[in-house]
Amino acid sequence: MTPPTLHPPEAQPENPSSGEQAGIHARDREFMGLALDQAETALSAGDFPVGCIIADDTGVIVSGRRSGTADGTANEIDHAEITTLRKFYGLSAGTSHPSARRKGRYVPSRLTLYTTMEPCLMCFGAILISGIGRLVWAYEDVMGGAASLSRPSLSPLYSGNPIRIIPGFRRAESLELFRRFFRNSPAGYWEDSLLAAYTLRGGRETPG
Ligand SMILES: [Zn+2]
Repeated sequence: MTPPTLHPPEAQPENPSSGEQAGIHARDREFMGLALDQAETALSAGDFPVGCIIADDTGVIVSGRRSGTADGTANEIDHAEITTLRKFYGLSAGTSHPSARRKGRYVPSRLTLYTTMEPCLMCFGAILISGIGRLVWAYEDVMGGAASLSRPSLSPLYSGNPIRIIPGFRRAESLELFRRFFRNSPAGYWEDSLLAAYTLRGGRETPG
């Protein structure tokens, strides 16, 4: 098929692993690495390879990954970010959980959510409404990504949200997982999509 003409979202700094990208915190590389581990686990299970971590300055609070795509049903709810946010909110559900006793110290605005792909509209909305203070994502979703969209025309809850966003961090490693997925996706999830074509020709780095 003819590769679609795509314009990636707003320019993202390259060489994201150098630590020179603006706004990078000391443990971002470590935490995104854990999100990439989650994505790799999803890939191994035949699922769309997205992983997610919610962390604060003291460490990882919860982790999650994409599910619901390996069996061909294309569940569009169990995205990695939603799975991870559910776990986070679940910390307060049972007092027997060790983390529940600590939940009082979790101020959403002090949390960072790491995800290996730019969040979709559903997930970005959930992140904004949750009051998460910071979002770090790896690979641009040229088909369904929402975190790079302009927000001024949206309602105040979204347009006025002070979230800080770090795009394209450890992008190449996430891109490689997507290349592997689209080269061999048994369930055919998004196999003929804009995202698949874009990914298989190397994203925005490949001319043409
Ligand atoms: Zn999503």
